[in-house]
Amino acid sequence: MTERIDGHTLLISLIATPIRHSLSPTMHNEAFAKLGLDYAYMAFEVGNEELKDAVQGIRALGIRGSNVSMPNKQAIIPYLDELSPAAKLVGAVNTVTNKDGKGHLVGHVTDGTGAMRALKEEGVEVKAQIVTMTGAGGAGTAIAIQAALDGAKELRIFNINDQHYKNAEATVKKINENTNCTATLTDLTDQAAFKQSISESSIYIDATGVGMKPLQEESLINDPEVIRPDLVVFDVVYIPKETKLLKFAREHGAKKTINGLGMMLYQGAEAFKHFTGEDMPVDYIKELLF
Ligand code: NAD
Repeated sequence: MTERIDGHTLLISLIATPIRHSLSPTMHNEAFAKLGLDYAYMAFEVGNEELKDAVQGIRALGIRGSNVSMPNKQAIIPYLDELSPAAKLVGAVNTVTNKDGKGHLVGHVTDGTGAMRALKEEGVEVKAQIVTMTGAGGAGTAIAIQAALDGAKELRIFNINDQHYKNAEATVKKINENTNCTATLTDLTDQAAFKQSISESSIYIDATGVGMKPLQEESLINDPEVIRPDLVVFDVVYIPKETKLLKFAREHGAKKTINGLGMMLYQGAEAFKHFTGEDMPVDYIKELLF
């Protein structure tokens, strides 16, 4: 570490809470070391209350960039100077750049593009496809909007009637008004509509977090008839690596089951490119972390 960090080292931060479990510091620091880049990446426990001061701190200290996670992805927007077109459309930011440390902060969102690249790496294209999705929170919105921007033909979102439902309605409206994709929203309690939709889709994406602790014993699909040999099932969760949904889909012969590790890697790789201008050595990082 003393060989790596000296008076010239530039800092990249991660501001979120809780955050100590995150793989991002390891991922970025290993990539800096591998490429010989003079940066360090540190996680800071920051919630909405500390957020304004933390953003001022980024400006004051010339921190070159930051990742942003819950609960700050939307709350940070008023404190930034500019948003990328995708961040504007999604209404959330997970990456902030501070070019040359000059204090002009630009918000980007790389979750959606990360998810699309993860699918592509598995040979799955959303272009011209009908996609059924569950979940329209932070991750779901970014994925839905990017899938629409990347040319999905139809996006059928199913959400429970909770506090995220209004956001799901807004997301569907944005997609229909700004892209060529047709988006719909249905209450997930309409199980007949959910099953019918998957039967007409080539990809099912679960962006709810069901399957992760404390819901690790749950899956939104439990009927074997829903799984077909031409259906791709993508779950954004990566702990555990195989959720109950993915196990069920694999055992019942889905074409492909994909977990959230690729999304996590490629959203990080795109942030890394924003921070340093360099490509993350993704194969090396995959070997270390997966
Ligand atoms: P969020 O709270 O913003 O949204 C959760 C969504 O799931 C909402 O639409 C909500 O209505 C729905 N939901 C919640 N409980 C449900 C249930 N019991 N049944 C059906 N629907 C339910 O959360 P988020 O930030 O979007 O995160 C969702 C998941 O995505 C988490 O597991 C998170 O770890 C994961 N994630 C993964 C990556 C990655 O890189 N792989 C990135 C971001 C988030």
